[in-house]
Amino acid sequence: MQRYAYLKAIADDTGNALAVCTGWSAREWWAVRPSDGNLKTRTLGLVSSIAAGLAFALPHRKVIAIDGDGAFLMNLCGLPTIALQRPPNLIHLLFDNEVYEASGGTATASHIADAVSLAKGAGYPHACWVSTAEEFRAEFLQAWQSDRLSLIAVKVEPGQPKDLPPLALDELENKYTFMRYLERTEKKGILSPGFDSKS
Ligand SMILES: [Mg+2]
Repeated sequence: MQRYAYLKAIADDTGNALAVCTGWSAREWWAVRPSDGNLKTRTLGLVSSIAAGLAFALPHRKVIAIDGDGAFLMNLCGLPTIALQRPPNLIHLLFDNEVYEASGGTATASHIADAVSLAKGAGYPHACWVSTAEEFRAEFLQAWQSDRLSLIAVKVEPGQPKDLPPLALDELENKYTFMRYLERTEKKGILSPGFDSKS
């Protein structure tokens, strides 16, 4: 099964959560849950750290990291910091297709490196593999309701549906749209020094 089926399984359960995506998952996530609260990262590996930063800054808000195996392995050094801070509002999803899909399909090391063991070794209070969309959704709901930092990992087949709509905004637009969304919903000035929610 491909990543899209898993994303679709939880899309309606994500409320106003902030979601940080990487690689090809972005088009899929926007297709199943279009929102100004979606952010696509450009730099390989930083999904988990950016999502963790948002979770630290906005502890009343759920944050979802939509990670891939290449990105996850690129940022192993971030795992102990995330585990140390242990943001209960962060749900870390890992879709492991064992390749760097967005850059041509070169194999990653995830066929020998066990992501769940790595997360547990780093100190994550909960990390697990699932193998069906039903298990995936059940773990997601459990993580959401229990307020416990969790990694939910699943092996997926590479590829995505051919009829996905293209992203309607580029990375710069996405950055501003996302930040303005945070300003509106959190009633805080971020990008505009003169922003005042009461005016
Ligand atoms: Mg991959």
